[in-house]
Amino acid sequence: MLPSQPNKIAPVARAAKLWARFGFSEPADLVLEDLAFALGVVVIEGHLDSADARLVRNQKKGLIRVRKDIPEGGRKRFAIGHEMGHWELHEGVSQVFSCTSEDMLSGYKGSAPEIEANLFAAELLMPRSLFRRQMGCENPSALVLRDLAGYFQTSLTATAVRFVELSDEKCAMVLVEDGRVRWWRASEVFDGFWLDSKMQVSSATVAGAHLTGEPLPHEAEEVDGDAWLGSKAARVADVLYEVAIPLTGYGQILTLLWPA
Ligand SMILES: [Zn+2]
Repeated sequence: MLPSQPNKIAPVARAAKLWARFGFSEPADLVLEDLAFALGVVVIEGHLDSADARLVRNQKKGLIRVRKDIPEGGRKRFAIGHEMGHWELHEGVSQVFSCTSEDMLSGYKGSAPEIEANLFAAELLMPRSLFRRQMGCENPSALVLRDLAGYFQTSLTATAVRFVELSDEKCAMVLVEDGRVRWWRASEVFDGFWLDSKMQVSSATVAGAHLTGEPLPHEAEEVDGDAWLGSKAARVADVLYEVAIPLTGYGQILTLLWPA
């Protein structure tokens, strides 16, 4: 049997409807715990072993437990938004969802409910029209991303994903862990951009140079396209701009790329 395909429309529409129903106009209006309570769900923080968050449903009442020691407020909010997505969308699927940090990243891969919960969380926390207005036509610098993450109270990683998803320009984000590509996303118009997952990051990239002890430049730096893209560079981008942002506490580097 083929795995079921995620519904990409309903999660977005459902989250947008909540903004309209509760009259939110900016992210500061969105107090997740209050919104969850109005929908019948209590949010608590507590100990969880392998999951970042869990939803238990008992008919019209729900309980979301979010892992207390998630180190970052933005990531915690995304986890709560994700469980609210299961609450709003998946009553007929399961009464219990236990979701890991991997589930919170499911974009193309992953099961349909996990992808749908992420689509819901992204739209709830960073509504597309508002996000597009805030991002303007800027390149995705560290400053721009930090401003957006502050405004939407989201993690830098989730903000970068949203930026790339909603950008009309060619751009990509790459999460580097232990010197390798863990995962990446590229904007829809960035034809041909493709990195093998687990690819070793070359020291000719800004992220790779930083891993060998080089200080990070403050501005975007030009790198040869083939340092990232190998033989694909000739048709995708000869030269790329790169900004690398170390994610302290996670041992990861968030890299942003766009053609020069
Ligand atoms: Zn989930």
